[in-house]
Amino acid sequence: MGAIAAALQACHKRIDSACHAAGRSENCAHLMAVSKTFPVAAIREAYAAGQRVFGESYLQEALPKLEQLADLDIEWHFIGPLQSNKTRQVATHFDWVHSVAREKIAQRLSEQRPAGMPPLQVCLQVNVSGEASKSGVEPDAALALARAISALPNLQLRGFMAIPEPGLPLPAQRGRFRQVAALLDSVQAAGLPIDPVDTLSMGMSDDLEAAILEGATMVRVGTAIFGARQNIVNNHIAINQLEQAS
Ligand SMILES: *Cc1c(COP(=O)(O)O)cnc(C)c1O
Repeated sequence: MGAIAAALQACHKRIDSACHAAGRSENCAHLMAVSKTFPVAAIREAYAAGQRVFGESYLQEALPKLEQLADLDIEWHFIGPLQSNKTRQVATHFDWVHSVAREKIAQRLSEQRPAGMPPLQVCLQVNVSGEASKSGVEPDAALALARAISALPNLQLRGFMAIPEPGLPLPAQRGRFRQVAALLDSVQAAGLPIDPVDTLSMGMSDDLEAAILEGATMVRVGTAIFGARQNIVNNHIAINQLEQAS
């Protein structure tokens, strides 16, 4: 078995034991493989091992990869920073987006979703890290944003995504994730006109157990599947420069 196939298997084991520890059913959280910075060969290897859901963060890096992998039946999730100048490509090429935090961005995504495609599946990114993060809607404003988004024709609101600041001890991780889960509860209780609003996109390589204990339905795992990202800082600077130039 190749290294990626073995890592995927180990990941599924972690997910299953966390689901078990949480008293939830086996397979309670879907696994998204975060393939940013990794080549198409690595994605093909994961695909051959049965993985179908992949996440990418940087549009300029992702688009050529999506094109080269068009022969595969992949569900693509956009999880990266999202500004107005990226919405058209995201609306055109992705099945899901997890990083919506502003109504204006959501309106553009809805307007730009090509006719004939199914609605774009949307998670709102919530900031549960206070001053430590600048990304995501504040929890106080999340319900109102969810309402506004649920009225847009070409989007389907599915839930919430969060990225707690790294390095937190387990109880603090769980506290962050619990806040996100509470938001999903409040949206469900508010009874938005569409359903299902069923997704808690939370948990990564280092904190997926805490996330699953608090109800994650989708974990986003990169490092634990593909290995450490090399030169991540340099890569991101290069990619950001590419994106600004485009
Ligand atoms: C990179 C990334 C991940 C994966 O992180 P790992 O720690 O490598 O598992 C998950 N979610 C988002 C939004 C990311 O940018």
